[in-house]
Amino acid sequence: MREKELDKVNVIFMLVTHLVAAYAIYYAAVVHPSWETLVLGLVWFALCGLGITAGYHRLFSHPTYKTNAFIRAFLLFFGAASVQNSALKWSSDHRRHHAQVDTDEDPYNIKRGFWWAHIGWIFFRDVDKREMLPMKDLRADPLVVFQERYYILIATVATVVVPGAIGALWGDALGAILVAGFLRLVIEWHATFAINSVAHYIGSQPYSLGNTARDSWLTAWITFGEGYHNFHHKFQQDYRNGIRWYHLDPTKWLVWAGSKMGLTRDLKRTPDAAIQRALREVIESNSKRVPSKAS
Ligand SMILES: [Zn+2]
Ligand SMILES: [Zn+2]
Repeated sequence: MREKELDKVNVIFMLVTHLVAAYAIYYAAVVHPSWETLVLGLVWFALCGLGITAGYHRLFSHPTYKTNAFIRAFLLFFGAASVQNSALKWSSDHRRHHAQVDTDEDPYNIKRGFWWAHIGWIFFRDVDKREMLPMKDLRADPLVVFQERYYILIATVATVVVPGAIGALWGDALGAILVAGFLRLVIEWHATFAINSVAHYIGSQPYSLGNTARDSWLTAWITFGEGYHNFHHKFQQDYRNGIRWYHLDPTKWLVWAGSKMGLTRDLKRTPDAAIQRALREVIESNSKRVPSKAS
């Protein structure tokens, strides 16, 4: 087990942000109720969520599709608003998670416990001491490098300045910062963190028994489709996470719709034969686990 040291800056930042988010609920419910501010909060939640799922995750961490500079800049802006590090740092942690899943090298190793995988890993420094992966493919993109350099400034503009300016249009700049900035941020954090905790804890394992990742509609609902995590760990180069028509995967639908409008291209799909083979292997492994009645 690695040495770990409390990251006081992260702990204080997370604590203050959660307190401000709690005040935002009181403000929006009692002090200054405003439907415009609530709508802005929902829109910001959707855009920032996509910044993580369609951007940080399915475009940068795993290059499952390609898109133009405008869309990349859009996803990097709202990814920064999600205040989960720069795209480079997030992708480095995430690629390590996939390569070393369930080991001590996995930044959010579920074997260290549910709360460690959910939020504990942010409170301690051992992850930050680890060097970032080379990330040569991402460093070749000037937009990704720009976002890394000005990450804190972009995150502040996207979380405070822009929502505040929009809220001022209906006389509620403070409410917009509180609701679309802070309350949205805290809810979005826990939705993203649930992929590292809940999606490695609750759900089915149809495609692979080789790691703790699980498929669950529950986590898919709050993360724009990222809850089909067993499939994702098995076929991480696929732009889809939920592959059935009834799987809720809005990120997949948007990337697919973008391809029909010429905004996204080179969408990677796992061949059906490989998916069927994985399903068969899991069924065979499970049947071997059940002791036969004859013995
Ligand atoms: Zn992933
Ligand atoms: Zn995972």
